[in-house]
Amino acid sequence: MVFQSVKTLFSKVANAIVLCVFFASPGVSKTTVSDARLGTHPGLTRLVLDVDQIVPYKIFTLSAPYRVVVDFPALKWSVAKKDRRRGAGVVSSYRYGLFQAGISRLVIDVKEPVAIARHKFLPINSLGKHRFLIDLKIITKQAYRASKKSFQSPGWVKPIDPTVVRRGAPPSAEIPKPKPRQTRNRMRVIMLDPGHGGPDPGAIGVGGLREKVVTMRAAKEVRRLLKSTGRYRVFLTRNKDTYVPLRRRYQLAEKVRAELFISIHADSHKNRRIRGASVYTLSEKSSDREAAALAARENRSDVIAGVDLSRQSDTVASILIGLRQRQTMNESAIFGEVLIDELARDIRVLRNTHRFAGFAVLKSPDTPSVLMELGYLSSVGDERMFRTKGFYKKLAKSIYRSVERYFQRKTALNRS
Ligand SMILES: [Zn+2]
Repeated sequence: MVFQSVKTLFSKVANAIVLCVFFASPGVSKTTVSDARLGTHPGLTRLVLDVDQIVPYKIFTLSAPYRVVVDFPALKWSVAKKDRRRGAGVVSSYRYGLFQAGISRLVIDVKEPVAIARHKFLPINSLGKHRFLIDLKIITKQAYRASKKSFQSPGWVKPIDPTVVRRGAPPSAEIPKPKPRQTRNRMRVIMLDPGHGGPDPGAIGVGGLREKVVTMRAAKEVRRLLKSTGRYRVFLTRNKDTYVPLRRRYQLAEKVRAELFISIHADSHKNRRIRGASVYTLSEKSSDREAAALAARENRSDVIAGVDLSRQSDTVASILIGLRQRQTMNESAIFGEVLIDELARDIRVLRNTHRFAGFAVLKSPDTPSVLMELGYLSSVGDERMFRTKGFYKKLAKSIYRSVERYFQRKTALNRS
């Protein structure tokens, strides 16, 4: 019933126009969202977006935890009041961003299971705006299990994600084919992983700086320095403010046959005086409770970005480690030690800083992988430091030296 009322908005001709405008030619001007607001009505929580055009969309609900996700073609979000992202009614919070090339995602966290009671674009109002509204109604767990969990408007076509890793598929344009490993003075391949992105901002600093911005700035500076030596081929798991699921991040490293995977993050702590960088590698058992809690926080990234994990139990449940992975883990630990050693020469590091836990993003069986936290966004001092160019320069230099040392050791071992 509800779904059909949406259908009437789209004639076949309109569908064709929508399709060609939003998917075939991504260069055209984007639809703009100028406001987002929550309202409560008897028995309902309503989210309204003001938009300048009607676009196709897809809505689905997820459980564990309960979320509602709305995908649109790439939108421009220019919602002035960012602090409106607080909850109301059954909604505890919501966020948005580029989920992958061509898809803007809105993720709504809900406190209880909900049904989508209504979703539609309303015709132009007196201010010349279209409005997209979605009504959420609390239902019981049993009713949730039996409910319809996905709706899409007639024009919705999912664009192809260029970063999806398929077995045997030819490398996409974004991921160039690696050169063979045999050559003597071959270039070493490194995958840098700027954490978070798109609808997942990561930690948010005391002054509002977002982790996803810090991690990208760091990755780009490290890439610039490594590439300038002419000895490294450097890839990033994401080049812009978009989300890449955790599993896909290390699959991208495997695809280019990276010999090192460095995941870059910045943490947050309730004790605002804590400062300094730290380095983590994978293990089944965490070295301490803080490391376990950190891994749990970082592993929530997929949940925050609205990824359906129901068929990926290993990223949420316990991390099981295979035989091949154990060898890689030793290499990871060796690089982790070298990395801390070099970081400590240039930037502030935590004491007892190489620690272990079950990070989903470090699960590659083939690529030695480390995760580094550059510092704490909860610290005024660290956040200020993250806003300076000098920090990224120092960071890049120390990572560069650690990479050099690591590969020198490898080369020496291979010769003996
Ligand atoms: Zn993070």
